[in-house]
Amino acid sequence: MIMCRRATELMSQRLDRPLRWSERISLRFHLSMCGACCQCNRQFELLHRAGDRFTSAPSAEEPSSSNQE
Ligand SMILES: [Zn+2]
Repeated sequence: MIMCRRATELMSQRLDRPLRWSERISLRFHLSMCGACCQCNRQFELLHRAGDRFTSAPSAEEPSSSNQE
């Protein structure tokens, strides 16, 4: 089983690059056993979603607003 430190590393790396199959399995297994990292993973997912919204919103709204006018 991977350590909490390694698990949080993987959570953070997952925002920058797709994890390998073995890394995903290790992380998922750790999250199922460790409540603290499970909480931490939720925070990362919220951050990740917020980041997606910020980067995709301007380019996604631009074409539709210019079409309406
Ligand atoms: Zn942990």
